[in-house]
Amino acid sequence: MKKVCEIAQLGNPVLRQQAVQVEAFDSNGIIRIVRNMLHALSESSGVGLAAPQISELVRIVIIASRPTKRYPLAPEMEPVVMMNPNFEVISELMKTDWEGCLSIPGIRALVPRYEKIKISYYNQQGIKQELVADSFIARIFQHEYDHLNGLVYLDRVVSNKDIVSETEFQKLMDQ
Ligand SMILES: [Zn+2]
Repeated sequence: MKKVCEIAQLGNPVLRQQAVQVEAFDSNGIIRIVRNMLHALSESSGVGLAAPQISELVRIVIIASRPTKRYPLAPEMEPVVMMNPNFEVISELMKTDWEGCLSIPGIRALVPRYEKIKISYYNQQGIKQELVADSFIARIFQHEYDHLNGLVYLDRVVSNKDIVSETEFQKLMDQ
């Protein structure tokens, strides 16, 4: 039996496909997917998740920043469920920082992302919302948004030399 919270790992073709728009925000299928995503997040130390990571090719991401073992400095916030999300770049300024991914265990890499963005999305009631995000939250969003388009963060890495093992990353952080 398939575990509810099984996370697709790099190499699984589902991570390389385009996710489709949510049509019926309140359908049982969508409610079930959101529930499974929240469950998968609560069982992991991730700070965000995209539906394709639980093998559901729909445009849903959840941002759930909180300090965890993987991200001790993450700001604390309630999980935000975003359907059919999009974003605009507010400042062309990009910042490079470390990322990891539940679908790519054991690896971290430096990734450039826009520092400040305006996110628009539909909530679970199908009401359009806007959110200006910067820094870590903007980074999580851009990472999860990429998953909806079949991209992973390694695709954004500038040099292979910016990819390190989780063990070496922890040593860097402890310095
Ligand atoms: Zn990811």
